[in-house]
Amino acid sequence: MGDPELAVVAAIHGDEPCGAHAIEALLEEEPNVKRPVKFIIANERALERGVRYTETDMNREFPGNRDAEVDERRLAYELLMELAGCTTLSLHSMRSEERPFAIVNTVGPIATAICPYLSVEAVVETAGLLGPSLVDYTPVVEVECGIQGTEQATINAKRIIREFLAATGVLLDNDVLDRCSVPVYRLREQLLKRESESTSCAFHVENFEPVLDGKPYATIDGRVLTADKLFYPVLMSGSEYTKQSGYAAELTGSLG
Ligand SMILES: [Zn+2]
Repeated sequence: MGDPELAVVAAIHGDEPCGAHAIEALLEEEPNVKRPVKFIIANERALERGVRYTETDMNREFPGNRDAEVDERRLAYELLMELAGCTTLSLHSMRSEERPFAIVNTVGPIATAICPYLSVEAVVETAGLLGPSLVDYTPVVEVECGIQGTEQATINAKRIIREFLAATGVLLDNDVLDRCSVPVYRLREQLLKRESESTSCAFHVENFEPVLDGKPYATIDGRVLTADKLFYPVLMSGSEYTKQSGYAAELTGSLG
């Protein structure tokens, strides 16, 4: 069948097992693939231990380094080499959001071709604001598949893999081939950045629901923060368990 041009990556974060479980479940069904696909468990050691990473957050280490002593920095390099020439789906999960959404650096031909076929609430363009993460270095659609450690996240991940493989002609799977319109948001700035030293902060907003000018969106150490301009919140799991990081985004259009 030749060299794979498609890849599915799981467990860049070891405490997000949904992608690995979904790949396992899918391969057990011995799907009839029309083109070769690479299935990659990115950080096996962290996955085995059930930790986000063993030394450092892999998704902040790209492009990595072949000779690095830090595990994740070397793994980031090896993963990028493995993905050269591939159109890639990478699976994640979060602490805060049940509804799957896609993350890309910028919407290009690959996101335009694939995202309308995925069961996702939204496509988020990071515009490099999250980086240096995988989306900044290779043609990849990342998907946040649901709440970390839940059965539902695994179910979502498996469906999204099938949709990706159907959209790319790997699986002839008309059951999942359903083209929908999906809104695109572009990150504008990080919220609470200056307050990152704070001990208590809470968001009062829902992902992708507009926050109007003057509306309160978070409380930090008892102080209420209000929007000075309309934005759409995109909340991300932080690397620390007690905090979330959030971004103000703009609605820029839709795909599909
Ligand atoms: Zn993740």
